[in-house]
This record gives sequence, structure tokens and C-alpha cells, in this order.
Amino acid sequence: MDATTGIPPAVTEETEPFWAAAREGRLVVERCSSCGAESFPPRGICRRCRARTMEPAEITGPGRVYSFTVNHQRWLPGLEVPYAIVLVEFPGRPGVRVAGRIRGCAPEETAIGMPVAVGFEPGPGGFAIPSFLAVPDGGGS
Ligand SMILES: [Zn+2]
Repeated sequence: MDATTGIPPAVTEETEPFWAAAREGRLVVERCSSCGAESFPPRGICRRCRARTMEPAEITGPGRVYSFTVNHQRWLPGLEVPYAIVLVEFPGRPGVRVAGRIRGCAPEETAIGMPVAVGFEPGPGGFAIPSFLAVPDGGGS
């Protein structure tokens, strides 16, 4: 599995801390220093109180699959299909949902609610992109 095929992300002032942390294998979102609301993707402005005093906040996971799609379309030459893209949410962090590929399970085994660990893999243009790792469910919920 290789995710380096594709278009490099556009880096803005707001998303730069995210990409910098991603290179170190850390998932960083924005937290408002005025009201504490967290959001992702980064916008540089709080969606709750409109403050512009956003600071980085690290998320360690694990998260859970909120929704997912399985892509069977070879959009670009060299793209391996099928693969699953998951949208992951984190307990106690309602403003944050992060999309990424999933590893450690077959695309057809991806399920809503399954636990995933935060991870990254090399993406286009030398960026590290979110790539979640399926966590075997120990029977708890
Ligand atoms: Zn706020």
C-alpha cells in the first residue's frame, strides 16, 4: 500500500502546524484559547466564538470510525484500489473529525464504530498524511 500517489496538500498559515506535527507523527488540531472549542480542519478562527486565538492541541487517540467510504475508482495512475477512507472522531472532542486512509484491515472489513489508532504515512509531495491503524476490538465497547 502506497499513498504517495496524488496531489500534494495546499499548505496555508492555518494548516501549517498540522503538517509540521504530522511529519513528527503527531495529530494536532486547533483549540480556541478563549472558549476551549476544538476544531479540525484548522481554519484559524473558532467556529463557536469566532475568536482568532487558536492554538495547537495534540490528539493521541484512539478514535472511532464515524463514517467511511471504499473507493474502487482508480482516479490516478498507480493508485491501488480498492481502499477505504475513514472519517474518525475522538471521545470528548466533538469538534474534531479527521479523514484518512485505514491500514490493518481490508477495505470491506471497515466498519462504523471500529477503534483506530492515529498514524501517518508518506503522502504526495513529501507530506505525511493521516493513515489510521485498525485496532483489534478487545470485546469492550
Ligand atoms: Zn472559541
